Amino acid sequence: MHRLYENEDITVFWDSDKCFHAKKCVTGCPGVFEFGRKPWVDLSRGDNPRIWQTVKQCPSGALDISYNHGIRIEFDEEGCRSVALDGDGVIGECDYEDDGEECTIYHTEVDPAYGGKGIAKRLVFKTAEMAERRKKKINPTCSYAAKVL
Ligand code: SF4
Repeated sequence: MHRLYENEDITVFWDSDKCFHAKKCVTGCPGVFEFGRKPWVDLSRGDNPRIWQTVKQCPSGALDISYNHGIRIEFDEEGCRSVALDGDGVIGECDYEDDGEECTIYHTEVDPAYGGKGIAKRLVFKTAEMAERRKKKINPTCSYAAKVL
């Protein structure tokens, strides 16, 4: 399971398949990370520097974090894609096909001028999260998405 947790400045990624529940996150940032609560990550309950430090101490790599750099990620169901927006301008996208059971992620691209900011990973996680919430199997044929997932 792939999840994104966002506030205005940061995005926290969680890959449940890697998480072995060492619970360093829960002790590092109580309130922000709390198993059993829905959602189990609530970024409004902590400050960004401490959240950043806690995520970096996750021993399994299940958690990751990036700055948003003012870029929004939105899911565009009609367009079968997630998009990265700088203001109103699209600067990246992650495209998929949905055959009813399986979601094939076949393309991820970010404007090179925005490279190195974690935007592609946010796009792939957003697409994967939305597919998983719709109970779809994910088939990443895009090599970048396959690597991330
Ligand atoms: S610290 Fe990482 S591995 Fe441990 S419970 Fe939290 S997310 Fe999972």
